[in-house]
Amino acid sequence: MTQVLPDFRLSQPATIAEALTELAWPGAQIIAGGTDKVVQLRRGLAAPAVLVDITGIADITGIKATSAGLTIGAGVTLAGLGGDPALSAYDAITQAAASVAAPAHRSVATLGGNLCLDTRCLYYNQSHWWRQANDFCLKYQGDTCHVAPKGNRCRAVFAGDLAPALMVSGAQVEIAGPEGRRRIPLREFYVEDGAAPLRLAPRELLVAVHLPPAPRASAYGKIRQRGAIDFPLAGVAVAFDGAQVTVAVTGTNSCPVTITPPTPFTGDDDWFDALEKTVQKAVSPQRTSTTQPHYRRLSVAALAARLARQVACP
Ligand code: SF4
Repeated sequence: MTQVLPDFRLSQPATIAEALTELAWPGAQIIAGGTDKVVQLRRGLAAPAVLVDITGIADITGIKATSAGLTIGAGVTLAGLGGDPALSAYDAITQAAASVAAPAHRSVATLGGNLCLDTRCLYYNQSHWWRQANDFCLKYQGDTCHVAPKGNRCRAVFAGDLAPALMVSGAQVEIAGPEGRRRIPLREFYVEDGAAPLRLAPRELLVAVHLPPAPRASAYGKIRQRGAIDFPLAGVAVAFDGAQVTVAVTGTNSCPVTITPPTPFTGDDDWFDALEKTVQKAVSPQRTSTTQPHYRRLSVAALAARLARQVACP
């Protein structure tokens, strides 16, 4: 009989300290809403000895106003993010949260889970028998990358919607581990490596996101194959804060990419054209989906310019 899930021990800690103790077990992995992890388990893409369910940790489920802005627990659901009045001025973040999958997913999927989403690839997010028939691949159980066979790194794409929206909003992430807590800008949390895209050690846990006051205006938009429910082929967040414009992109590289426009904002057509060209050059889509890389490069740049116009000239 086909096994639906691999064997593992389920741990359900009630505190961050208990979770860190459980993560010390060899082969331990974290699960929160499970909207991606359960699919991975069923496809044989993860085989944890211990699965640490962090949804019972009360300390990571709140949104708090602070003197510096907002602190959002990593366990806050995407539906909770979209519906909280404290986030009403952070348009890019609420729009990104609302764009993820379907309402049922958003009711359980978490902020931390979306930020720690595994990278995706046409040759990886498949059933075990499909991958076996293709000799697996460099990222897991194989030795060749089918996207870039001469390369020595995985090109799978990061496709989380929240990361670019949080980056243009100036987010920092707080990480708990055996040595204590550390806090880093979200953009430093990611690495351009499809096989290991996070600066998160196996025994560490993302516990919170810290936000400064909201930018003057921001927005998030995405391109996807199925309009109702899909990962982004490309997603763009734009924020205007005074004369400063920040753009961040997901779905094109193995990590989200922050892009600085080439010149100070002027609001004329030349500025938007220059932004579009800068985004085209900054992203590196590969053959990781059924949509051609060149189309994704052009469309993400066009989306960035269109979104910037909408935000700048509402
Ligand atoms: Fe595998 Fe290459 Fe795809 Fe990475 S980019 S998942 S190594 S085929």
